[in-house]
Amino acid sequence: MNRCPVCQTPTEDAVPATGSFSAYDCCSCGKYEITDLLESSWQTVPPAPEQRAQLSRLLKTLSRPDEPLPRVTTASLPHLLSQALIPPSIRGTAGTVTDGIK
Ligand SMILES: [Zn+2]
Repeated sequence: MNRCPVCQTPTEDAVPATGSFSAYDCCSCGKYEITDLLESSWQTVPPAPEQRAQLSRLLKTLSRPDEPLPRVTTASLPHLLSQALIPPSIRGTAGTVTDGIK
C-alpha cells in the first residue's frame, strides 16, 4: 500500500510510472502525477500541513476524466499553491453572490 505524497492518505498502488513521474489515484486528491524529484524532496523536507491541504483540494478540482492528469513538479508547485489560495467564490460562482445583493 502506497501513501499519497500530497495528503498521506493510503492509496491504491500508483499507476505505472512514466519516465521520472509517478501517478497516484487518491480518494482525496483525485488522479495526478508528481515528479520523483519532488516526491523525494518531500521525504527530506515535508510540506507544511496547510500546503498539503491546499494542494489536495486544488488537485481534486483539476482532476478531470477527459483531460491529462494534473502534474505536480518542483517548478509548478509554487504556481499551484498560489492558485489554491484563491477562494472558490471568485473562481466562477461570483454570479450567485452578486445576484443575491441586487
Ligand atoms: Zn491525496
